Order: sequence, then C-alpha cells, then structure tokens
Amino acid sequence: ASRAVPERPLRILALANQKGGVGKTTTAINLGTALAAIGERVLVIDLDPQGNASTGLGIDRRSRKVSTYHVLAGDSSLAQAVVPTAVPRLLLAPSTMDLLGLELEMASSSDRAHRLRNAMSDIGKAGATEGVTYVLIDCPPSLNLLTINALAAADAVLVPMQCEFFALEGLSQLLRTVEQVRTALNPRLTIQGVVLTMVDPRNNLSNQVAADVRSFLGDKVYETTIPRNVRVSEAPSHGKPVLLYDLKCAGSQAYLRLASEVIQREGRLPVAA
Ligand code: ADP
Ligand code: MG
Repeated sequence: ASRAVPERPLRILALANQKGGVGKTTTAINLGTALAAIGERVLVIDLDPQGNASTGLGIDRRSRKVSTYHVLAGDSSLAQAVVPTAVPRLLLAPSTMDLLGLELEMASSSDRAHRLRNAMSDIGKAGATEGVTYVLIDCPPSLNLLTINALAAADAVLVPMQCEFFALEGLSQLLRTVEQVRTALNPRLTIQGVVLTMVDPRNNLSNQVAADVRSFLGDKVYETTIPRNVRVSEAPSHGKPVLLYDLKCAGSQAYLRLASEVIQREGRLPVAA
C-alpha cells in the first residue's frame, strides 16, 4: 500500500540587501539552481529593473514579453509571466527596465505595497506555477517600493552579504526595514538567514567583519560561505547558472551546500527521487 505523500509547503524567500554588488542575483540564480537540483520546484522572480537574474538565466530581452512589470501593474497574472529556463524544475518571472517607472505609477494606489503578494495568492496551485515549492525574489539594490513588495509577499528574508567595512551598518538598516514591514504589512515575516558571499579567507578585514557579523547575528548566519570564484562571475555572460557552467568549481559546490543547509534548517526532508 502506498502512503500519502505529505504536500511540500511553499516557501517564499526575498533576497534583499540595499547594497548593490553583494551577490543577491548570483545567489537567486545559483541557490535556485541548487534547490532545483536537489528536487525542489523553484520560481525565481526578478524584481530588479536591471534584469540581471533574467539575463543570467539565459532569458534575453526579446523573450521577456510579459514581465514582472506587467504583473505588478495589474496587466498580467504571475503565471502569464513565468517562463522555463535551461535548468529543469527552475522557472523565472523575468523583469525589464519598465519596472523603473512603476514606483511613480503606483504611488497613489492604496494596494501599492501588496501588488506582488496579491499576484502570488494562487502560486503553486495551478497553471504555470503548479507544484512550485520555493520562490526566490531577487530584489533591487534599494529599500524602495519594489523591495517592500517583496518583503510584504515573503515568508522570510535571505540576506546575501559581502564582508566589507560598512556591511554591519547596512545590515542594521535592513533589519529596521524588515521590522517596519513586519509591523505594518506582513506579521509573519522572519529573517531566514545571512549568507556571506565573495569570501576570501586571505583577507583579514573580511575575516574580522565575518566574525563581527556572526557574533551580532549568531546562528542566523549560515555556516556555508560562498567563496570568491572567477567561474561564478563568468557564468552569467554565458546565460547559465554556475552549476551548469562548471559544476565542479568551488562556487557551484558552495551553492549546493547552501541549498542543503537551507532545507535542513527549515526541517524539510530531501525530496524523494
Ligand atoms: P547584486 O545582485 O547584489 O547586485 P550580484 O549577484 O550581481 O550582486 O554580484 C555582483 C558581481 O559580483 C557580479 O558581477 C557577480 O558576477 C560577481 N559575483 C557574485 N558572487 C561572486 C562570487 N562568489 N565570486 C566571484 N564573483 C562573484
Ligand atoms: Mg542584482
């Protein structure tokens, strides 16, 4: 007799840090790919007008007919924006530069902070997103209305952080914003964790900042760190996640470890083959 397989809960993570160039997009692409590789069904939502997650996943501008702009503007459903990628089980809702104008367009609308959450109400249940178990929202490098939409829609925030001199200051500001969103918009929002990116163990300042971050946030900081690795930075120009570009490199292996740490911390069992 076959046992009923428990439904896998849907987990929505916003990758946020108002600083640019800290590894948000790289982590969205590669954590997404690694989660898909271990059997999760993943949707990456590109919420940055730069569209780097879309480009890095090989979706060129011409194939972005329906984008997250149309979804937030209320012109399309999220399912209509979703496209497959070269990675099995990894879907993408692409973005375009149109997102730049959205903040002004939405300024006087009362649901402006909840546009994404409303668009995600039936995610995972049917249509293009059926069966999705993880959503990773790639936020722009700012605490603007787009990021607020992501935080209002998410279960938790995952913060990619580069260990530089002002990193902790930026982190405090982000944590205040998370607290404000929790109070005003989304009481269930938590901090999923902080992942240290572009780590270079030979850099003393970076080691000192990493130690400070760990003593400030304790076990909210993932044990897994992502090393600085040239293969990681080359992969997007080939329109591929690093796991497809060079599975054996240190960056790919780190993202696989991060994916398994993420699901372990959430108490999720690996997906049965
Ligand atoms: P963000 O989305 O926070 O602005 P990105 O993910 O785009 O940051 O990363 C910024 C730059 O650093 C990109 O050029 C990316 O390829 C590079 N990069 C990110 N992570 C690594 C890494 N682990 N090793 C080397 N380069 C990296
Ligand atoms: Mg980015």
